[in-house]
Amino acid sequence: MNKQKEFTRRKFLGMSALGTAALLGTSVIGLPGCKKESTTLYGEETEAVVIGSGFGGAISSLRLTEKGIKTTLLEMGKQYDINNGQNKVFASTLKPDTRSTWMRSESVLPLGPKLRWSGKGPGVLDRVEYENMKVYRGTCLGGGSVVYGAMLPQAQEDLFQNLFPNIPYSELNDKWYPMVRNIIGISTVPQDILDSKYYQYARVGLQHAENAGFGKFFIPGGVNFDIIRQEIHGTVEKAITNQDLLYGVNNGAKNSVDRNYIPAALGTGNLTIQTLTKVENVTKLEDGRFEVLVTKLDERGIARSQKTIICKYLFVCAGSVGSNEILVKARETGNLPDLSLKVGKNWGFNGNAMAMRKVNQNVGAQQGTVPVTGYVYNDNPLGKTLVEQAPYPIGLELKSLLGLAVTLNENKGSFEYDNTLGKAMLKLSANATEPSIESMRNFLNRVIDANGGEIDYKAFKNGISNDFTYHPLGGVVLGEASDMYGRVNGYKNLYCVDGSMLPGLCGGVNPALTISALAERCLDNIVKNDFN
Ligand SMILES: Cc1cc2nc3c(=O)[nH]c(=O)nc-3n(C[C@H](O)[C@H](O)[C@H](O)COP(=O)(O)OP(=O)(O)OC[C@H]3O[C@@H](n4cnc5c(N)ncnc54)[C@H](O)[C@@H]3O)c2cc1C
Repeated sequence: MNKQKEFTRRKFLGMSALGTAALLGTSVIGLPGCKKESTTLYGEETEAVVIGSGFGGAISSLRLTEKGIKTTLLEMGKQYDINNGQNKVFASTLKPDTRSTWMRSESVLPLGPKLRWSGKGPGVLDRVEYENMKVYRGTCLGGGSVVYGAMLPQAQEDLFQNLFPNIPYSELNDKWYPMVRNIIGISTVPQDILDSKYYQYARVGLQHAENAGFGKFFIPGGVNFDIIRQEIHGTVEKAITNQDLLYGVNNGAKNSVDRNYIPAALGTGNLTIQTLTKVENVTKLEDGRFEVLVTKLDERGIARSQKTIICKYLFVCAGSVGSNEILVKARETGNLPDLSLKVGKNWGFNGNAMAMRKVNQNVGAQQGTVPVTGYVYNDNPLGKTLVEQAPYPIGLELKSLLGLAVTLNENKGSFEYDNTLGKAMLKLSANATEPSIESMRNFLNRVIDANGGEIDYKAFKNGISNDFTYHPLGGVVLGEASDMYGRVNGYKNLYCVDGSMLPGLCGGVNPALTISALAERCLDNIVKNDFN
């Protein structure tokens, strides 16, 4: 059977297993008859453990299991499976509930009114609050790929090579980016969708880019535009055209990794997934293996029991927040004392800044939630800047446009262990976001000079956001805390393969595609060289 057919077969098998697990409400998922762990006096045993099921964890799981390595994937969040026959698996943006937000009873989106509901649960989106930065992340099977904006541009070559002079960009460009694009399914907006009323705001943005002399950018999206087209024609339930995106997309328009990489890994028969399973700490045993201490959560996210899982190979892929929390804690509590002191360092927020501007013209009341266009501002004197035309889909004609900028900002923070809290916390200076704000201000000045209008202060107190990020990156940076393939310095068979690999920036674009391409590159090398 050729590779593509084999991948499709495994994906199909895995999708059925995920569907069955969702229907039965079980938090241990595998192919029928596939029980990977044996239970010992000390806990379960398996060959490899992957912590976290976002981009890095999903790719690690697929590449390990297709090589025949028995793997257990641990995910603290819940499985939300849209193929299980219920069409309202995710909460809606307009009427969120416990499924929307991690263990809170009010919304934490950066814009719009605060909405409340009763109860708390393991919802898909989390906001982790540190002193000078609020970090958004996905917390469910599929991690950030379930909640993200699905913008998957490729890093700019010069900016990427500045970050990693030792990784040939051509290798990513020729091999790893196309591989990820092929598996996830990525394309730019078709003209008929851009021409629809839902993307009037994007069309206005393109005209403004041209008027101001910026490059026009068509953002590659990890979405199925055919489904969005069907939404527009009224033949499927609306989601992208009905304000939904950040709490998950019920009609399948978002190609999240629980719909491609993860089922393909499950379909090998070598993967067991344990959801609602939060990793608390990691210890090196005398025989060289790792012991992973986990808390099992119930459907309401309440801790019910603890257990350990022992493995030879440990992949920490819990996203930049989760991986730093786990590894810095393990080092500072003496469980992994030889871990590099560089773990936790060189963390950044990809220069994120957001702003709204009044434009004195209609931009559309109903705005498609997946951003599809942007402004390339490469001659910004403060460094190359990409501004993406984000929607503000509240069903009203606001005559304002929202932009998300990825700016060059060299300010970095670090994760340090707080003994009192028993937790690693992010330390970032209060003025770390200033260069990003200035970059965004340069953009706003130029686009307003060319098109009229003014900064809209409705969205952010000072006009430009200064305290949150969607793009946490770093802490276990390639070539610093690990080798160039994610082998963490200090311990054999310990790997970190996720957004922590990137030094706070990602080559001037949103990070998920580059995290994925690097993860593919890491796993290719690891599987070839470390598993005989
Ligand atoms: C609202 C939003 C919009 C975004 N939009 C975009 C976009 O359009 N384009 C883009 O490129 N990027 C976007 N991002 C960022 C993108 O989602 C992340 O860069 C990406 O998901 C990071 O991948 P990762 O592999 O590092 O980990 P993640 O995808 O963050 O996955 C980590 C997983 O580990 C789990 N985990 C954490 N701690 C533990 C633990 N202790 N035990 C067990 N499991 C644990 C988490 O629940 C999560 O499922 C967005 C993010 C958010 C929040």
